[in-house]
Amino acid sequence: MTQPSDFRIAVLPGDGIGLEITKPCEDLLSHVAAKVGGFGLKFETVPAGAGLYRDTGAAFPDSSKKMTERADAILLGAMGLPEVRYPDGTEISPQLDLRFDLDLYTGIRPVRAIPGINLPLADPRASNLDFVLVRESTEGLFASHGKGEIVNDQIAKDTLVITRDASERLFDYAFKLARKRKNKGHPGKVTCVDKANVFSSFAFFRSIFDERAALNDDITADHAYVDATALNMVRNPWDFDVLVTENMFGDILSDIGAGLIGGMGMAPSADIGDKHAVFQPCHGTAPDIVGTGKANPTAMILSAALMLEWLGETHTMETCTQAADLLIAAVDKAFEDGSLVPFELGGGASTETIFNAVYTALNDSL
Ligand code: ATP
Repeated sequence: MTQPSDFRIAVLPGDGIGLEITKPCEDLLSHVAAKVGGFGLKFETVPAGAGLYRDTGAAFPDSSKKMTERADAILLGAMGLPEVRYPDGTEISPQLDLRFDLDLYTGIRPVRAIPGINLPLADPRASNLDFVLVRESTEGLFASHGKGEIVNDQIAKDTLVITRDASERLFDYAFKLARKRKNKGHPGKVTCVDKANVFSSFAFFRSIFDERAALNDDITADHAYVDATALNMVRNPWDFDVLVTENMFGDILSDIGAGLIGGMGMAPSADIGDKHAVFQPCHGTAPDIVGTGKANPTAMILSAALMLEWLGETHTMETCTQAADLLIAAVDKAFEDGSLVPFELGGGASTETIFNAVYTALNDSL
């Protein structure tokens, strides 16, 4: 029987390594919830993905959509298999459908270095790396998803769409996030990343950013072109606080962000709307390592922590926020002495070893 303080979590394990990291993550979440107390988690597994499409012809059936709609939060592993495609050659990606269907307009991609992880940038400032990329997730170039046109085998067209509504709420979210971070000692700065010098769509994007910046004048606002941002993400990423950008630019820059903190298996994400939110690691299904036990579950665990943080904030439930903080602290503690090195980073720590190390750190702290 669901208690009032039980959150209903729709879990979409998906395909590939998504299937290997999701269940142990559920168990870890149940463990931390039971230890902290004050709230419960009720998991419901939702069938969706490329495997389901191959077996049934439907990647994301209506019954599954309904399960996600009535959940308090959605936890997703990874979806897609290279050999399973729609007839037009595109990949099976119900995770993209979810963003549109549930109006998840804000993509959160934290880029935070975990102590003890060997980072690609040698500069000592890299070990304190901590910024957030906010990616618009319902329009931009992805507005063309499923609508692209190929004319007479000669011209291909995909149209980028920027709307005032989506941009305003995106920027407002970014300013709110910068304010929250400022209270925790970050600079309180939002940088609009665009290509306003070339495209009218991005000049429009930037002008709306400036309007919203004027309404949030306790936060510093500035602009950067996307190409310069790519350069500076490698050269001086410690200068960033909150970056906000269009969907496609955000897609690309968030992979650079994942690279900065050690790889796809270290990078969590959240896609947030007014009523719903999906939490998932930034990586895909990694078909090359399926079944080897090499999948790094850290991004999944950190995404689950983002979920607890969001539930705590939206339901004003302090215990949930506390559970999120404990989980993040346990991940940091697990990696801190540098001996836990995932396969992805050249080490030998398996999925199970990493989960066990996080359990140990968590239990030590409770
Ligand atoms: P997609 O195309 O949907 O992004 P993908 O799995 O092909 O999916 P990535 O997720 O970007 O692409 O991963 C690229 C490679 O990085 C994988 O093939 C795998 O070798 C490695 N990788 C990704 N995620 C992890 C992980 N969690 N643990 C270990 N290795 C990973």
